[in-house]
Amino acid sequence: KNIIIAIDGYSSCGKSTVAKALANKLHYVYVDSGAMYRAVTLYFLRNNIDVTNEEQVQNALEHIHIDFHKEEGVTHVLLNEEDVSDEIRQMPVSENVSTVSAIKSVRQAMVKQQQKMGARKNVVMDGRDIGTAVFPHAQVKIFMTADPKIRAERRYLELKNKGENITLEEVFENIAHRDYQDTTRKESPLVRAEDAIILDNTDMTEEQQLDFVLDKVGK
Ligand code: C5P
Repeated sequence: KNIIIAIDGYSSCGKSTVAKALANKLHYVYVDSGAMYRAVTLYFLRNNIDVTNEEQVQNALEHIHIDFHKEEGVTHVLLNEEDVSDEIRQMPVSENVSTVSAIKSVRQAMVKQQQKMGARKNVVMDGRDIGTAVFPHAQVKIFMTADPKIRAERRYLELKNKGENITLEEVFENIAHRDYQDTTRKESPLVRAEDAIILDNTDMTEEQQLDFVLDKVGK
């Protein structure tokens, strides 16, 4: 049977960094579920989709095709064949993604696709509801958290390095707001699965985090 490693947790905790390192080490497929919600959000923004209009949302979902494409070790996110990897990390998407991902039909469409991705291959998937809703029977579940100030600083530096014009306060606010929306929404809110192991990486290096998870995986 194929193996699923679910990595959930708060925004900007470094989930994708651990997940990618783990997938590389184990030769599993890495799936960034957040990138899928971000791609949907980008499509909604570009096409002025009214998120309160269920018919518009449904119709838009039918026209959205998301793919991951790995090239020279880097995974690119494709929205209807267009590489949107950079654009989905920018503020307009970050500011709207938690509203879009709270919509029931959006979640249903994404979960279905994510379950397909994990049906035949060994995968490491990171997100908010992987261990609770997408793969409740995942063999290994990790729940990541870290000091909010540290999280904001890490993400701020990352965005700065990419040339984004942004302040630390804006990044902090965005993370806090997304955490609030993600934990309080009706549809599969962000919550630790009962059988998920907590990983607080506030004072941990990336190497220590990888070792921690590898130990839990039994490798
Ligand atoms: O992981 P990332 O921070 O890129 O995710 C962006 C947003 O997408 C989250 O703040 C959350 O609102 C949503 N998301 C979700 N369920 C997932 C992954 C992400 O609702 N499995």
